Amino acid sequence: MSDTANFIPHQHNPSAARDVEPPIQARANSNLISLLAEQSFDVIVVGGGPAGSSCAIALAREGASVMLVDARTRGRDKCCGHCLSGGAWKILSELGLRELVQSVATGATGQVAWRSGAQGFEMNLPALGAITPRIELDKKLLEEAERVGVRVAQPATAKWLAGGNVAVRMLDQELSVRAKLVIAADGLGSGIARARGWNPKSPGRKYGFAGSWRAPLALSNWSAQRIEMRVVRGGYLGVVAESQEHIHVAGLIDRNSKVSRPDDLLNEVARDWPLLAQALQEGRPTHWNAAGPLPWKPTCIADEYTALVGDAAGYAEPFSGEGMRWAFESARGLVRAWREHNGWNAAAAQTYSKWHCDHIAGRQQKTLRTAWFLGEPKRAALMCQTARAFPRVASWLACNMIQ
Ligand SMILES: Cc1cc2nc3c(=O)[nH]c(=O)nc-3n(C[C@H](O)[C@H](O)[C@H](O)COP(=O)(O)OP(=O)(O)OC[C@H]3O[C@@H](n4cnc5c(N)ncnc54)[C@H](O)[C@@H]3O)c2cc1C
Repeated sequence: MSDTANFIPHQHNPSAARDVEPPIQARANSNLISLLAEQSFDVIVVGGGPAGSSCAIALAREGASVMLVDARTRGRDKCCGHCLSGGAWKILSELGLRELVQSVATGATGQVAWRSGAQGFEMNLPALGAITPRIELDKKLLEEAERVGVRVAQPATAKWLAGGNVAVRMLDQELSVRAKLVIAADGLGSGIARARGWNPKSPGRKYGFAGSWRAPLALSNWSAQRIEMRVVRGGYLGVVAESQEHIHVAGLIDRNSKVSRPDDLLNEVARDWPLLAQALQEGRPTHWNAAGPLPWKPTCIADEYTALVGDAAGYAEPFSGEGMRWAFESARGLVRAWREHNGWNAAAAQTYSKWHCDHIAGRQQKTLRTAWFLGEPKRAALMCQTARAFPRVASWLACNMIQ
């Protein structure tokens, strides 16, 4: 099977999607009743993003009884660039989630443009990726989890107690739920990792942000397949078309830089980029989603009671657009270790930790090195000149940026 994807683009309207609120109270009540009836599971997954949902789905399909707890309401947005890298398709096929993810993709990404000041280059991507708005992707994955038998408690929060016990808080009630394995898929700065004492000694100093707005005039000159990256002093910005009429931006700011707010970074980039300046005349995001601090690298990722997946297990920065791929990949790695050891124990934890270190942590280090090199305007401009003169360098850059 091909590792790239063919699309019938899903029509996504960000404004409409954000207006729809699920019947929270009704959902939470019915979940609470089923939870009270069953307080012991093989696995509790804390967090319903791509890592948590895909892990829960795969383990439920392995025959495990699984409960998933997510703090936010169904249909929440997430600070993300929405670009699923081309390399993710093989992993999604193995997880049996490829068609599901394809059904929410609003388009393919096939072109990357990259600029710093007057210098820039652009090229076609070696592996076709997709634009997958997170509101719809995460919702669809949670629906699939419920369909395969995962008990989903949402909105509800989970707190690590000890030895496989988790306190789940929902509708002002707290339940102690027991599981053989607690999977922390609770994202950057994982509360479960911190409760286990696995948090890094020094926190990162960068913050991510993302937002969308309606800008049909600016997008009339935009290729739907394009991802454009702009590097300025203090941060960088990635831009895609989320739909025919909505522009989506995601960026990174260094806490120590002069550019301290998303709007400042946007204005800085728009000074050299008429298309963004025009989009900003048409509107601005009504709110920003934020994430950080990053990078985040816990000191341990698994033992006989707990395993971290996705961002909770470590996240570098969004430069290479691989976060969702790492999330799905870590879920796949954990399920392989589970299968190999017929369930979870200290040996499975060791297998998973080693696999994570060999397959994901190494690539995150590479992303950090690339971002250090290319995320600074002068070095980035020099690299753009080199890339234009030597096509092989350009191709190496594209592969490193969007894998
Ligand atoms: C600016 C920016 C741009 C990015 N752009 C891209 C991109 O274009 N492509 C890409 O692939 N990746 C991108 N990423 C990375 C990507 O968003 C993450 O890697 C991905 O969301 C990780 O998924 P996850 O499931 O591990 O965590 P998350 O998606 O963060 O999900 C964690 C979940 O845990 C829940 N939770 C937290 N605490 C608790 C608790 N105590 N109890 C219950 N639930 C809890 C939260 O509600 C949340 O739903 C970007 C990141 C940033 C910061």
